[in-house]
Amino acid sequence: MPELPEVETTRRGLAPHVEGRRITGVALRRPDLRWPIPPEVARELPGQRVLGVRRRAKYLLLDTAPGSALLHLGMSGMLRVLPAKTPVAAHDHVDLALDSGRVLRFTDPRRFGCLLWQPAGETHELLAHLGPEPLSDAFDGDYLFALSRGRKAPVKTFLMDQAVVVGVGNIYAAESLFRAGIAPGRAAGSVSRERYRRLAAAVKAILAHAITRGGTTLRDFLSPDGAPGYFEQELFVYGREGEACKVCGRTIRDGRMGNRATAWCPGCQR
Ligand SMILES: [Zn+2]
Repeated sequence: MPELPEVETTRRGLAPHVEGRRITGVALRRPDLRWPIPPEVARELPGQRVLGVRRRAKYLLLDTAPGSALLHLGMSGMLRVLPAKTPVAAHDHVDLALDSGRVLRFTDPRRFGCLLWQPAGETHELLAHLGPEPLSDAFDGDYLFALSRGRKAPVKTFLMDQAVVVGVGNIYAAESLFRAGIAPGRAAGSVSRERYRRLAAAVKAILAHAITRGGTTLRDFLSPDGAPGYFEQELFVYGREGEACKVCGRTIRDGRMGNRATAWCPGCQR
């Protein structure tokens, strides 16, 4: 599943080819993805100039004067800018034709992605209750400390709650907690301010690093020939259950937390 770094990498890759371009046509090859594609997409976008390509959590927004196309890549979605004549393949569900002679093509075999509409000046329901961006100044240790008081949920579940902070997926939560030395099952309300400062710094550093590497997910570090990519070498706990901790040598443990697989080192994390 594309994680925040991959979505941000996608945004950075698309923006130079899409921003400032006029949308000349919209081709919808099916009426729905995860949800029905609202009629505004085909009605409002043609003729509009793309004012910006933004990311909020794992959503991408193509801003135009009447509103924004709101995209989510779901489990398997992909956005590419291609020459307009590129043959359409299975799962190429949406094309936005651009005045550059290219198309922005949305491909999604499993159709867990979405294409929705956010009128100008409004906030879509899906974005209305999200926590701050992890790389923004609003997200720091003091924020986590204040929000977590009285919470009995595991700190990993707390960190992965999109209302607390967006875009910290399982892999990044596991690795950030390791770097901060916090056991994932500890009650969120029992973690000190100082440790939350370390945790927030770890989240920022790990996500920023992943963005500079072009995003990292399981899909990426299992290359087609089955050889692991280099990011896998940088993982300390995620996917290393039963192996020796690179720092202390204890066996990496695993369990489930908030219904997600969780790996941690009982020596390094308390
Ligand atoms: Zn260890």
